[in-house]
Amino acid sequence: MQTLHLKVDPDNPNPKIIEIAAALIREGETVAFPTETVYGVGANGLDEKAVRNVFKAKGRPLKNPLLMHVMSWEQASSLVTDISEEVLLLVNRFWPGPLTLVARANDKVPPLVTAGLPTVGLRMPDHRVALDLIKAAGVPVAATSANLSGRPSSTSARHVLKDLNGRIAGVLDAGSTGWGIESTILDITRPPFTILRPGAVSRERLEEVLPGLIAATKPGAEERSRLRAAHYRPDARVIPVKPGENLAQLAQAEAARGKRVGVVVVGDQELPTLVDLVVVINGGSAEYGRRLYEIFRLADSRKIEYLFMEIPEETGLGVAVADRIYEAARR
Ligand code: AMP
Ligand code: MG
Repeated sequence: MQTLHLKVDPDNPNPKIIEIAAALIREGETVAFPTETVYGVGANGLDEKAVRNVFKAKGRPLKNPLLMHVMSWEQASSLVTDISEEVLLLVNRFWPGPLTLVARANDKVPPLVTAGLPTVGLRMPDHRVALDLIKAAGVPVAATSANLSGRPSSTSARHVLKDLNGRIAGVLDAGSTGWGIESTILDITRPPFTILRPGAVSRERLEEVLPGLIAATKPGAEERSRLRAAHYRPDARVIPVKPGENLAQLAQAEAARGKRVGVVVVGDQELPTLVDLVVVINGGSAEYGRRLYEIFRLADSRKIEYLFMEIPEETGLGVAVADRIYEAARR
């Protein structure tokens, strides 16, 4: 399969280019597109055969559900049942944006999208190109991150093509995406609404809209939402380091054994010498989140064997960043 590389202006995409991609979606093909978090790859969410192609392209296990990407709340609500009024407050405040709502699916949603779960994840991306694509396609787009299964998410079309060239029908290339870290996944099937995966919208921001109604991730939530599948991992062995632990010393010891070592540190501090990659995060958790997957890829391209990563303070966006580091460290 030849992958069409379609360049578009992120702020003012050419409707003719969008239509080429939208036609592919309508024909049951797979297309990668930018969102405000990472690049997604998707297909017609109402066509089970098309949805199967997304799993095939990524080598994604079928037990791992996709998210329905929509261009309006109206389109989202056509896929679910039993929506409470509080949900509308969240939608008004955070959509379009990196908040995925997990609600009870109705029978329009093919079981393959939800991996057989009774619920479906709904997401309205805050990216003009994604919204124009979904609108032009005229159907919700079942999508997930545009990377080979088990590899870090893609934050540019170059990354998408590195993983998926020849495996998908097209990619809408609008340059680098903004956040780097994926959406927050919130279960809205019953109060209190539970964060299944911390992400780009922090718990604090959700609480501002619905005080007392947002619960943090509970043990077991990951199993329920199938979040334990292989995800977010560079080739390097990731070693999370808490603030206060001596990261420089730990890294130095591995380097002294002749290993290829990388370090990621937050703010000014003592840096190890003799290591092969040093990344300093000066812009807080927002910068850490934005650069996380780029750092994983950089570590891979430098053939890093041990990547020591400082855990940021676990508040606000730091919760999601810490979650992804621990996830990457899991073997
Ligand atoms: P992403 O990794 O951003 O592509 O989002 C896909 C992830 O959302 C899946 O790997 C699941 O962990 C989660 N997810 C999708 N649908 C559901 C659902 N119905 N219930 C819980 N989690 C879901
Ligand atoms: Mg992913």
